[in-house]
Amino acid sequence: MRAMILEAPGKPLRLTELLDPRPAPGQILVRVKACGICRTDLHVVDGDLTESKLPIVPGHQIVGEVAAVGEGVQPGQSEEAAVGEGVLPGQGEVAAVGEGVQPGQGSATAFRVGQRMGIPWLGGSCGHCAYCREGRENLCDEARYTGYQIDGGFAELCVADARFCFPIPEGYPDLQAAPLLCAGLIGYRSLRMAGEGRRLGFYGFGAAAHILVQVARWQGREVYAFTRAGDEAGQAFARSLGAVWTGAADTAPPEPLDAAIIFAPAGELVPAALRAVHKGGTVVCAGIHMSDIPSFPYSILWGERVVRSVANLTRRDGEEFLALAPQVPVRTEVHAYPLQDANRALDDLRAGRFTGAGVLVVNG
Ligand SMILES: [Zn+2]
Ligand SMILES: [Zn+2]
Repeated sequence: MRAMILEAPGKPLRLTELLDPRPAPGQILVRVKACGICRTDLHVVDGDLTESKLPIVPGHQIVGEVAAVGEGVQPGQSEEAAVGEGVLPGQGEVAAVGEGVQPGQGSATAFRVGQRMGIPWLGGSCGHCAYCREGRENLCDEARYTGYQIDGGFAELCVADARFCFPIPEGYPDLQAAPLLCAGLIGYRSLRMAGEGRRLGFYGFGAAAHILVQVARWQGREVYAFTRAGDEAGQAFARSLGAVWTGAADTAPPEPLDAAIIFAPAGELVPAALRAVHKGGTVVCAGIHMSDIPSFPYSILWGERVVRSVANLTRRDGEEFLALAPQVPVRTEVHAYPLQDANRALDDLRAGRFTGAGVLVVNG
């Protein structure tokens, strides 16, 4: 198969031919149709995240068709199928998989060849640690991530642990579905962590924000979108999707906010967002990596303001968001690139050259 691989951090991805992967017990083999690009991919490529397998095929917003099913993954099966032999060291307790966290499994349509599936960032968790048992598998110390420790979707084929994959909702073409899988569902987790307040600030208006503004509006909330100073196109795009106000990141909103979500990887946005929320307000840092946060006076945190991060996703987040997206309905604006142009796509993401979400077209 053709794949774009990262051999060392800081180097461009290289187009190469790899042996076709084969599904191990518990895995599905997916023929990739589209794979979204994400800021996390940039952090892997740049070496900001230091635990990458190398070489690695990046990409963790994968939409494709099931091409083959590994041993133990059968329609109608549930618990035996839930644990692939040797997939994760130490695993063996089927009871560790929480109720209702096996999307699609057990139904007559689960994992048949030809079915359209999505593969997200969370590729596996241990299933037995305290975090996993409490439904917080996103915090599992042994979790493994797609496009980081497990080869991802910048390739014609990939394999994934069936328990961590999601059926793609009807009505979304492959390209439009891809950004739902990280920008959408980790974004949705961030939105939940922001609480129920009506006035929400979004710092950075990229793939995640362009999805969440639609969800927030549907929930009856107001979005205040902050962009880089002078980013007229980004601000116009935010308004076109229903943001009630747009401005530069260092300006104050017209009214204090109930909560803010920081999508951009810039630590200086934390004190800026704290200044924008009123007492009791929450500032959510939604990214996996951020530059250092500058020191700030305690007075801007005082008043029970909260700063928190959001890490990864649980399968429940995925199920909830993928059920919600067609109801809103969330529409994604995508900017498509062929697989072999992944480096250009990542450069354009870094430079903010497109609005919405970047997606690689693979077996389009
Ligand atoms: Zn665990
Ligand atoms: Zn991502």
